[in-house]
Amino acid sequence: MKLTSFGAALEVTGSQHLLEVNGKRILLDCGLFQGHRKTAMEKNAEFGFDASTIDAVLVSHAHIDHTGNIPTLVKRGFQGVVYCTHATESLCEVMLLDSAHIQESDAEYFAEKHPETALQPIEPLYTQEDAEKSMDHFKGVDYNERFELYPGIDVTFREAGHVLGSAIIRLDIKDEEDGQEKSIVFTGDLGRARLPILNDPHQPARADYLICESTYGNRNHDPIEEGIPVLARIINRTAERGGKVIIPAFALERTQELIYSLHLLDHEGQIPKNIPIYIDSPLASTITSIFKKHKELYDEELQTAFKTGHSPFEMRQLKHTASVEESKDLNYLIGPAIIISASGMMEAGRIRHHLKNNLEDPKNTIVVVGYQAEDTLGRKIVEQAEKVKIFDRMYDVKAEVVILESFSAHAGMDDLDTFVQSIEGLKKVILVHGEEDQSQPFAERIKENTGAEAIIQEPMVPVDL
Ligand SMILES: [Zn+2]
Ligand SMILES: [Zn+2]
Repeated sequence: MKLTSFGAALEVTGSQHLLEVNGKRILLDCGLFQGHRKTAMEKNAEFGFDASTIDAVLVSHAHIDHTGNIPTLVKRGFQGVVYCTHATESLCEVMLLDSAHIQESDAEYFAEKHPETALQPIEPLYTQEDAEKSMDHFKGVDYNERFELYPGIDVTFREAGHVLGSAIIRLDIKDEEDGQEKSIVFTGDLGRARLPILNDPHQPARADYLICESTYGNRNHDPIEEGIPVLARIINRTAERGGKVIIPAFALERTQELIYSLHLLDHEGQIPKNIPIYIDSPLASTITSIFKKHKELYDEELQTAFKTGHSPFEMRQLKHTASVEESKDLNYLIGPAIIISASGMMEAGRIRHHLKNNLEDPKNTIVVVGYQAEDTLGRKIVEQAEKVKIFDRMYDVKAEVVILESFSAHAGMDDLDTFVQSIEGLKKVILVHGEEDQSQPFAERIKENTGAEAIIQEPMVPVDL
């Protein structure tokens, strides 16, 4: 049995790990690489394997860096089934369509900017039609229900506590090659205990092999409890100077957590009573409606809140802007406001218009609440660039920039250590989904604290299990 990674090896995005066992080729996640546009286009267009040879895909969660290349896989001849939880399936339906829309507009934009390519038109990576077709391959499964994928290969999805529907995937295998029983746990993206909305991540008791994310392998986040009060202070000081709070947020999970947090702050009178809140992302609004339908996945706190009659995702000053016109109207908004928009890494979507309009005014605040990959506009802003390029023009970054990591949906360093150390019988830990400065120290700690071997997975280099 061997495992080869074609993405999210020595980097965070583009999660794609191929498990070859008992004559089957099982792909764990099929994500998009996100980063510098040109590199992304090239990397995403070519798989490191023949798509038609893949038998099945197991998807950990709906984030695009874990699912976004499924339409390409289908387009290139994949004929198998994509397994994921029911909530992930519902979320993929809207998220893959949105991703296709971004691919299409990117290709159009590129063609406009490079008229010399007119004879060889730039094709989008995939179209909305491709995304729709790929949904026919999906099969939703229940959490905690062990099922037989193939004879001798059983699969179980467990709560990962990262985003709605997110799963830690467990495979129990009888390896025909050496006759041994082996268990593999793939963390996908591991969440954190006590995150709002979601249940805490499942803790596996035993496993032979662990394929573990390492986004924050060497860093702890601020405690979750600090997020909401800090957010209140940011909103109040920005409102006092008459500015706007701009929050680039992933449409999935982060936006809903923000709405819920703002709801709590409003309820407790901690933020100005009538400050308007705009969700300027049709995708985020659609996803919020999916959240409303999956009440069975809420943690106890939220279940109770619903029982008492108020919906955590609704409040009177909250507006969802649907049309482009409504979104454009926000440019002329006078006075304090909170605008939550996507994409989270600021590379696409309406957020770029809000940044362009608001970055140069010191009254405003940009609140960064999510992970920013290398070479993205978000990373440049986090790294305190004085000027950034948006739509071919340079803008001075004069607004206050606050990085609010307590909202992170990823396990921090201590959470990862506890998770790994609580698993008995580990032989090998394969670290993926992390840049080297995060995975290297994590690997050292695993070697020191457990008897397991720790490998930092390199792209396209098979590892024997
Ligand atoms: Zn994720
Ligand atoms: Zn991820």
